[in-house]
Parts: sequence; structure tokens; C-alpha cells
Amino acid sequence: MAILKVARLGHPVLRQLAEPVPLGEIRSKDTQRLIDDMIETMHEYNGAGLAAPQVHVLKQICVIEVDGNPRYPDAPGIPLTVLINPRVTPLTEEMEEGWEGCLSVPDMRGMVPRYTTVRLEGHDRDGERIEVVAKEFFARVIQHETDHLHGTVYLDRMRDFSTLTHLAEWNKYWLGVSEQED
Ligand SMILES: [Zn+2]
Repeated sequence: MAILKVARLGHPVLRQLAEPVPLGEIRSKDTQRLIDDMIETMHEYNGAGLAAPQVHVLKQICVIEVDGNPRYPDAPGIPLTVLINPRVTPLTEEMEEGWEGCLSVPDMRGMVPRYTTVRLEGHDRDGERIEVVAKEFFARVIQHETDHLHGTVYLDRMRDFSTLTHLAEWNKYWLGVSEQED
């Protein structure tokens, strides 16, 4: 396995459309290695999720996991989830504002409105169909990661940049907790 280089905002790959993975290629060695490397990279940088375009690969693959993450100390846990060719449909018009950060926008946080309930369809790393209804924080992370597959970053979704803050200032003024790593 390998830790991959993460593209930062400004790299054109973050603004391009990712291609669907043909179902017959999901279980291929190359796809499985990419998934393993994405998981290792997400863990290395304490991401809640990572999308393939963030590691310079324009394929519709995301990985998500939240388990005692120092970047999101108060977030509820999400088991390791691999999404291939995900499709997200809002099931409500209700949106909720919440803090987000992104490994491609290092050391920043901002308040982002997201649908509170979405239907997620796609495939897992074994090629099995996924169809789940996701709510709250899980729904937020899914929307953030699948946005990356369409060349969208969380800044594009913000309604008000007055909450955009560097991480150290976020800790100091918005949360009142001590310094943490990004
Ligand atoms: Zn991101």
C-alpha cells in the first residue's frame, strides 16, 4: 500500500468530472489497490473521507470512515465505507449548516448547508449494490465526497464566507478547544 499525494485547491483535477468505474473493473487488481491506497491516505491525513480526484485519479470512487478522528472529535462514528459510482438523491428539502474541512483545502473550516437526508445508490468494493438512506453527519460526508466526483468543493456550497476560518482560529474562536492537527 502507499500514501498518495493529495491535490490541493487550484489543481485542475479537482474541477474535472470523474468517470464511472465499469462494473467488471471493480474487482480488478488496479482498482482494489487504488481503494487500499485511498484508505491508507485518508487514515494518514485524518480525513473523514477521500475522493479519487483528490489523489489525481478521475474515477468515481470515494472512501469514508470516521472513528475517533482528531480532526472531527465530536463527530459520530461512520464505519469504513467504499463507494463506487455513487448517486445521491436528496429525500428532503431540509438543509442544515455544519462545519466542514477538506484535505484539498488544508487548515480551513467553513459552515456548509447540506441536505439532512439523502438516498445513496452505488456499489461497494466487491461490486455489490448499495442502496441506503443516510442522515445527518453521514449524509453530510456523502454529499461532500460525491461532490468531488463532479468537480465541486465545499466552498462552492457555502452561502456565507463569514464563517470561513483557518483551523487555529477555528479552535480558538469557534470551538474554544486546544490546537489540533489538520
Ligand atoms: Zn473534500
